[in-house]
Amino acid sequence: MSVVEWRGVNVPESRTIRGGADGRRVPGAEPATARPRSLPQESLPPNTPVASAPLLTACLHARRATAILVTVPDPNDQHLMRRAIELARASVRAGGGPFGCVIARDGRTIAEGHNRVTLANDPTAHAEIVAIRAACAKLGTFQLDRCTVYASCEPCPMCLGAIYWARAQRLVFACTRTDAASIGFDDDRIYRELERATAARELQTETLLRDEGLEAFRDWSSTPDRREY
Ligand SMILES: [Zn+2]
Repeated sequence: MSVVEWRGVNVPESRTIRGGADGRRVPGAEPATARPRSLPQESLPPNTPVASAPLLTACLHARRATAILVTVPDPNDQHLMRRAIELARASVRAGGGPFGCVIARDGRTIAEGHNRVTLANDPTAHAEIVAIRAACAKLGTFQLDRCTVYASCEPCPMCLGAIYWARAQRLVFACTRTDAASIGFDDDRIYRELERATAARELQTETLLRDEGLEAFRDWSSTPDRREY
C-alpha cells in the first residue's frame, strides 16, 4: 500500500488530485506518476493542521477543495470499501441510515457496522461508532493500532473524533459530507459549526464551575498508575 501525504485545509483546487475514492482516476486527474507526496507548503495558510498519511489519508477540512486525494489503488481497499457500501445499502433495506463501515487490519476485516440510529434510538449509533465498538470488543483493547477504517461516507465530526481517539492508522471513505448534505444529513452543517466561535454556534454553550471541574483533572494528574489513552 502506497500512501500519499495529504494536507487538507484550503488546498487550491489546481493542486488537488482528482479521483474517486475507489482509486480510479477520473477525467482531469493528474497522472498517477505525477502525484506529489505532499503539496507545497506555500499553498497553505499559517498554522494549517497537517494530516500525514499514516494517520489520515482522506479529506478533513477541504471545504474549498472539490476533489479528494486518493491513495494508490489497492485490491484490498476496493474490496473492503465495497463491503462498507454493501452494508450501507443493506442498512437502508433494514430501515436504517445509508451508512456502512468496515474496520480492517492488514487487509483483514476485524469488525463491521452499519447505521442504527433510528433502529436503536441512539443518535451515536453511526456506522463508524458501531464498527469501532465492535472492533475494540473483539480485540479487547481501546485502540485500533494499524487499523484502517473504511466508511461508505466521509465520517461526521463525531465519528472522525472517535476514529482519532481509537488511534486508527488510516481512513478511507467513499461519499463525501457534501453528498450526505444533498440528501439531508447534517454532517457538513456540523463541520461548519465547529469552525465557528463557541458563542456563535447554534448550540447554546456555557461554562460553569471550572475550578471545581479541575479537581478531577488534579486527581488524574496525581494518580501515578493512571492508564493513559
Ligand atoms: Zn458519524
